[in-house]
Amino acid sequence: MDEQKARELTDRFRQVLSTKRMNELSSRSRSASPAPFNAALPPTNAPPPSYSSSIRNIPLVPRPPSDARSMRFKNMLLSLSNMPVKWENPGLLDEALRVIPLDQIYGEAEEESQIFKAEAESLGAGKKPAWGYQDCVIRALLRWFKRSFFTWVNNPACHTCGSPTIAVGLAAVLPDEQARGASQVELYRCSLDQCGTYERFPRYNDAFVLLQTRKGRVGEWANCFSMLCRAMGSRVRWVWNSEDHVWTEVYSSHRRRWVHVDACEESWDKPRLYTEGWGKKLAYCIAFSADGAMDVTRRYVRTARFAAERKRAHESELLYIMNEIRASRRSKLTKNDKFRLEGEDMAEDRELRRYVAQQVAYEICKLNPEDILRGGSGSARPDPEAQKAAEGRQNGSAEWIRSRSESGRRFQNGPHDQPPRR
Ligand SMILES: [Zn+2]
Repeated sequence: MDEQKARELTDRFRQVLSTKRMNELSSRSRSASPAPFNAALPPTNAPPPSYSSSIRNIPLVPRPPSDARSMRFKNMLLSLSNMPVKWENPGLLDEALRVIPLDQIYGEAEEESQIFKAEAESLGAGKKPAWGYQDCVIRALLRWFKRSFFTWVNNPACHTCGSPTIAVGLAAVLPDEQARGASQVELYRCSLDQCGTYERFPRYNDAFVLLQTRKGRVGEWANCFSMLCRAMGSRVRWVWNSEDHVWTEVYSSHRRRWVHVDACEESWDKPRLYTEGWGKKLAYCIAFSADGAMDVTRRYVRTARFAAERKRAHESELLYIMNEIRASRRSKLTKNDKFRLEGEDMAEDRELRRYVAQQVAYEICKLNPEDILRGGSGSARPDPEAQKAAEGRQNGSAEWIRSRSESGRRFQNGPHDQPPRR
């Protein structure tokens, strides 16, 4: 009897969430997050994202892509930008809610948000908890997704005898695989000679199909997890990186900013994981949402040491492309919504500039007086943020650590061996 009651309650809850989202979708106004917008600020052009120029604050004038190389980059970004739009589908999001153990997620979120509140209170009156309730919902979703829901696949195991398999290349996509949105099928052969079974691994990029298959590499992980965040009522971004990685950003109304979330690593708000943590150099990190697009490279690359060269288009052309994507995503929004989102863009831009300024200040502070006298660059004191990021490295799954390139080289069968499948 109690169990039935609980089930009824859960069903009713799903219904409420679903209805709420339907209303949101139909009014095209994203979930209520107060825009940190100061109307007195003059509108500015987004600054150039590259390090040297953003430090110097050289104003850039957007310029349409003019050569073949920048046109190619534009077309690629336009096509990538469609990913989050595909999640704005009530049928898909309802199906996602049926898969998520809502009572578990909400229970954990409630408990954790109470802990954050208690921590804040212990620090003194007027202190704000580190994270809000909805942040805790996504944190609980992240734990469940990584630990109980999705599986990482390098080489699929043989379905006949369970032995490991060896990659033999790509196979032709079968009609039923194509119908389910597979763009590519990888073929593997059982390592046991007397077995000889072939194993197909279709790379699906349809979030609906991923709810059933529940496996893949970084592309599948980021696609499915981001969609589930959307289903739980958060505003979500899908972040594409030019060095073959993808991850998620979720908007925290509590912090009034976008938060880095990497489902593969179960990492929350560790934007320096890829650079200081893994030692990778990154060129572009571009975030796409259903109502915007933003070059967020400065959130992930905090020092010039980890900035890879940006050669795919001139910075003023990239600015033009980002403006174009934003405009097309927002073409159907009301004037008020557009205004609110522009305010958010400007606030984020200030946030990203602050990171650059902080790092410059930090680099100056860590110099030893003796080194300045000698004219050297200093034996650095350890950067606390970099240490934090390096700690994140130890939490990663074992096969990722093994296969990850620490020196920029690529390893066989590693997640970065393949471009992220979208
Ligand atoms: Zn076998």
